[in-house]
Amino acid sequence: MREKLLALSALQKVDVEIAALKKSAENYPKEIAELERALAQEKAAVDLEKTKLDDLDKQRLNLEQTIAEEKDKIRKWEARLTEQRSTREYSALAREIDIAKKGQQTMAEEVVELGKQSTIQREVARTKAADFDGKSKGLVEKVDQLKAKLAEVEAQVRGVDGKRGDAAKDVDGDLLRRYDTIRKKRMPALVPLVAPGTCTGCRMAIRAQLYNMLVASKGYDTCPSCMRIIYAEEALAAPK
Ligand SMILES: [Zn+2]
Repeated sequence: MREKLLALSALQKVDVEIAALKKSAENYPKEIAELERALAQEKAAVDLEKTKLDDLDKQRLNLEQTIAEEKDKIRKWEARLTEQRSTREYSALAREIDIAKKGQQTMAEEVVELGKQSTIQREVARTKAADFDGKSKGLVEKVDQLKAKLAEVEAQVRGVDGKRGDAAKDVDGDLLRRYDTIRKKRMPALVPLVAPGTCTGCRMAIRAQLYNMLVASKGYDTCPSCMRIIYAEEALAAPK
């Protein structure tokens, strides 16, 4: 009886180890995903500042283009001015030229303003990008470390899975089936009774008669309360 118990106890140790490994293996992908999400967010913030800068530069270039076109137009109008026969036509065109020149002046001021904004924005984008470079290095390193740890744990899980097969071979067939059924619902499935007969799985007191019998037989039974496989704690202690 004691041999069966020892074999099952050894198997349970492996199962506890597997459960712990799988639990930590589960956490790594979550941590990795969180870090990668943080990295993407930081990157998006950098890209946003760069886009703002590009927009300002684009606006300025467009405006400069318009100014050049306006200048061209004004030059042509000025050339035509001398050809005007009537005073009315002359002053009408002169007024148009005047309006165009004022408009051009306004645009030139806007170009200057956009240039100032662009200088500020360029600095903002540069700082943000430098910031990101610093931060991302740390984040990428962390992600790499976690990935390495995950691979390590996965390898350990594979190794321990093999160990479980070996440990299970030593366990009595009926006992193994009972154990496997229970462990799907509650772990540990095999629990010791401690004096004066308390189930360490559910903390319920076991009948003294059953407890005494298990102490004497070094065997196992089922806890009437939690249905776990129970044994007297001293049954697995090193033999005298
Ligand atoms: Zn119990």
